[in-house]
Amino acid sequence: MELLEKLKILGSAAKYDVCATTANRSDNRKRPWGKLPSSGICHSFTPDGRCISLFKVLMTNECVSDCAYCPNRFDQNIQRVSFTPEELSKLFMQFYERNYVSGLFLSSGIAINRQRTLEKMLKAIEILRYQHKFKGYIHLKVLPGASQEYIEKAVELSDRLSINAEVPNNEYLHKLSELKDFNNDIVEPMKLIDNLSQKKNYITQSTQFIVGAAGEKDKEILATTNQLYKDVGLRRAYFSAFQPIKGTPLAKNNSSSVKREHRLYQADFLLRKYDFNFNDLIFEENGQLSENIDPKLAIALNKADKFPLEINKASYHELLEVPGIGPVSAKRIIRGRKKFSIKTLNQLKNIGAVTKRAAPFITINGKKVGDIDNLLANKEYKQLSLF
Ligand code: SF4
Repeated sequence: MELLEKLKILGSAAKYDVCATTANRSDNRKRPWGKLPSSGICHSFTPDGRCISLFKVLMTNECVSDCAYCPNRFDQNIQRVSFTPEELSKLFMQFYERNYVSGLFLSSGIAINRQRTLEKMLKAIEILRYQHKFKGYIHLKVLPGASQEYIEKAVELSDRLSINAEVPNNEYLHKLSELKDFNNDIVEPMKLIDNLSQKKNYITQSTQFIVGAAGEKDKEILATTNQLYKDVGLRRAYFSAFQPIKGTPLAKNNSSSVKREHRLYQADFLLRKYDFNFNDLIFEENGQLSENIDPKLAIALNKADKFPLEINKASYHELLEVPGIGPVSAKRIIRGRKKFSIKTLNQLKNIGAVTKRAAPFITINGKKVGDIDNLLANKEYKQLSLF
């Protein structure tokens, strides 16, 4: 088969692996990262914040595994193709030399067994690094259950490594696959990656959850994510709303909403960037985040007696608790206050705060500029606050 024909199949099959915060199904041209045309090129962010084009592809769509949501699982009637390491590296270099891409995102099904497939993936990367002297960004999806030998090599050759957690614990994992063990195949290799990459501070580790595939709750997903941030030095978690795929055992299940995925990203952002604790997050009685109230507003309303805060006196951490004020605007407020006092909402808006959201939670020089009671009377919040 022609290489480009293989690329069409294996590039398209890679769309289920997430390497950026937007869903692949997004059609928004202003935010192209995460999207994957059939050519296998998508946009993503490197750990230092640059947006780059990635050659995103599977080594093979053959797979001996049984993940219930996956179109590549062993019993699917699809055309199976594989790259050799030489083919993959050659194709990548052709794209790279034409400036179509500047990095590689390599994932794979499991052909024959995990170690053999990983060996081929690593061989392809070795060819890029050593024969073609490619020094750019490489994100390698490590297959669950990878051995120490292969993880060592992966750490040596890559910039970002990820192992898909998919679900929050073993109980849910067993609903999706009889062949994977959460601790042995996912958490232990993550720990190994963390240990081995301690000395190489440019290596980052991420993971992905398929939201709603096994009936798990947002609270469980975020508790595990939070734990992984602490235990294995995870840098990012990606959330992908479950979509049923024809022919798979979950084909008749309902899809998860993109709104749910979005709320998980918002809550995760609070844990990673806003110094919130997991215990600050507010969940509904059924363990889900509210789809109607964003997680930061829900937390603020739950601590309503703390507000309003005086914008000219609040500390950095207090400012971060105000809806509409993020880390960037909080820093600007603190810096600006050394030279002038904030007198109007407009001034705050120019600093970068979303004043419509912040107003009920602040005073400016002792004067109220919004009404928190209106928000507390909100029906959606009242329901949420019961729990
Ligand atoms: S390991 Fe599971 S998710 Fe990955 S390709 Fe195989 S069946 Fe699909």
